[in-house]
Amino acid sequence: MSYLVLKGINKIYPNGYHAVHDFNLQIEKGEFIVFVGSSGCGKSTTLRMIAGLENISKGEFLIDGKRANEMGPRERGVAMVFQSYALYPHMSVYDNLAFGLTLQGVDDDVIEKKVMNTAKILGLTDYLDRKPRALSGGQRQRVAVGRAIIRKVDIFLMDEPLSNLDAKQRVTMRSEITQIHRETGATTIYVTHDQTEAMTMADRIVVMKDGYVQQVGTPHALYFNPVNMFVAGFIGEPPMNFIDAVMKNGVLDVGGNTVDLNKLADKDVIKKYEGKEVALGFRPEAIKLTSKGEVNDAYRISCKVELTELLGDNTNVYVDINGVKSILKVDPHDSPELDTDLEFAIPYKSVYLFDKETEKRIKLTKE
Ligand code: ADP
Repeated sequence: MSYLVLKGINKIYPNGYHAVHDFNLQIEKGEFIVFVGSSGCGKSTTLRMIAGLENISKGEFLIDGKRANEMGPRERGVAMVFQSYALYPHMSVYDNLAFGLTLQGVDDDVIEKKVMNTAKILGLTDYLDRKPRALSGGQRQRVAVGRAIIRKVDIFLMDEPLSNLDAKQRVTMRSEITQIHRETGATTIYVTHDQTEAMTMADRIVVMKDGYVQQVGTPHALYFNPVNMFVAGFIGEPPMNFIDAVMKNGVLDVGGNTVDLNKLADKDVIKKYEGKEVALGFRPEAIKLTSKGEVNDAYRISCKVELTELLGDNTNVYVDINGVKSILKVDPHDSPELDTDLEFAIPYKSVYLFDKETEKRIKLTKE
């Protein structure tokens, strides 16, 4: 049996608001799980139910095979890091790290060893005498993480721990947290609204929307095999392009360009969606500029360049396909001129199709 099991978990707040619906997930020991989704989708609520800070309205939560719904936070063996660092301002870094152990009555020499070891892992050895106000945001966040990992718990819960840091510090802390996870091996559940954090840190990602789990999978699976338009649009930056069209004889008219799905899709798929509205999806980074050479097995699309953003490692090109807007990601050396005509190709293997009514992905072939 999996280490952590969430079975049909629901949260209905006392005011009647149903924040989490039938959340099902099995987590293996040592996994790094990320809950991702826009603000208000129920990530923190779910994490707080796992922590024992909110009661579970319906469903069952098991830790190592034992029902944990009624266990208090301490009994569950969890440590939690919050967005606000919640450090004691009048205490030194050393005392902030030692505090929990002191409360537990751990011997001073054991505490010293643990504090020194934790400080070393987190690069805080030179700051042990300082008070929190004399630290940078990144260093404060490290102390907060240190306070959680010093307790040697089995389950590590983090709620948007990096959102108060600037962009550069976030990137550094991201890899540090991944490194700490490797060293401690603690089962970790991490909440964020940032898809980049989810993609770079997670073993598996849980995408949520409006209190419902949309998809659970590895970063690779969510990027290449999204189950619906929400996941397809949420994972990836810039997001996947969607172009609405009605299927006629298996052909989509994309701003005057012909996208003939008969070349790709099984006959029964074509038949099922005949006359229906679908959305063609393709990722900005999946396209090829036809000016760069012949592209086989691809749909060709003509468009006009409306705006370019040079980002250094690539250029985002905003194009107009006869009234339909899309974003293309190209090599910065291939940045096109504004207001010029451009032709690009969408390789068949990078084409996605969605049912506009249900927003679910349409599998083009049976495989
Ligand atoms: P997230 O972490 O994804 O931003 P939350 O889990 O914090 O979302 O909140 C999910 C929904 O539940 C939100 O609409 C929020 O307003 C609501 N909510 C959170 N806490 C309470 C509460 N104590 N009472 C009523 N509604 C709440």
